[in-house]
Amino acid sequence: MKKAYILGHPLGHSLSPIMHNAAFKHLGIRAEYCKKDILPEDLPKTIELLRQDNVFGANVTIPYKLAVMPFMDNLSDSAKAIGAVNTIINDNGKLLGHNTDASGYIRALKENAGFEPKGKIAIMLGAGGAARAVAYALLNANVEVLYIHNRTFEKAKSLAKEFKFLGNIKAIGKTELKEKIIACDLLINTTSVGMEDNAKDPKTSAVEVLPNSGFVSDIVYRPAKTKLLADAEKVGLATQNGLAMLVYQGAQAFEMWTKQDAPVELMFAAALQALEK
Ligand code: NAP
Repeated sequence: MKKAYILGHPLGHSLSPIMHNAAFKHLGIRAEYCKKDILPEDLPKTIELLRQDNVFGANVTIPYKLAVMPFMDNLSDSAKAIGAVNTIINDNGKLLGHNTDASGYIRALKENAGFEPKGKIAIMLGAGGAARAVAYALLNANVEVLYIHNRTFEKAKSLAKEFKFLGNIKAIGKTELKEKIIACDLLINTTSVGMEDNAKDPKTSAVEVLPNSGFVSDIVYRPAKTKLLADAEKVGLATQNGLAMLVYQGAQAFEMWTKQDAPVELMFAAALQALEK
């Protein structure tokens, strides 16, 4: 029996085992996707396990997306640029570190929401790990401009500087935020504001201002409708939560491990059902 893992801590709410195990079963692949909720000191020996013949690889989540990087034999271009690994592929004992969050986000936006980012004015809230993947994805998808706003302004500024080589990206402070949001085509929340389990009240919105007519995307998926998305829907704006991104990043990992097309619809349904429980 083949194995794939998710490495992280804590892993209580992860939807990944449900969607990957549903996909293995559907395709008749004798494999099991298991949680490895590990402490930092156990990370090196856990990564060594991934080199075994019967292991496809692993997904990596908080807090190890950066910590696993030095243990990889190779890194993909996206993992290098984003500076984080969310998928490890075991290639005959050699470990490739890759990042499928970026492609997952853009596929969700284009295929699931039907939004074409090329030539659009986008504003992203946040400058953390997920923001790096989303910014990488949007700049590679040729947005006209990507404005970044973050609570800690310095982080937005340094991300804009670092990603300048990918396209037109600018950090903006509070004073500019309102006018830019009103006129934007795409507003994306990549902060954890609005998420359940966050220390903050989940009834808080990541931002109070909304676009006049732009699309609103929140990469948080628990709750399925954050306050930001509920506010946007109330004024008739089209929205998308983070579930499609989660499913598509998982589907790409699945395809890299098994070299088979992932049953995306089925993975979506399995994740949605688990989320609604
Ligand atoms: P992270 O690296 O810890 O970054 C957190 C971000 O949120 C930072 O920009 C931080 O700002 C901001 N933030 C946190 N609390 C805030 C507050 N009270 N007010 C304003 N800003 C606040 O986390 P991450 O890995 O990027 O994850 C962020 C969110 O994305 C999480 O909810 C996660 O579940 C979600 N996510 C979803 C997917 C998916 O597939 N849908 C994938 C990855 C992540 P500072 O820099 O000022 O601290």
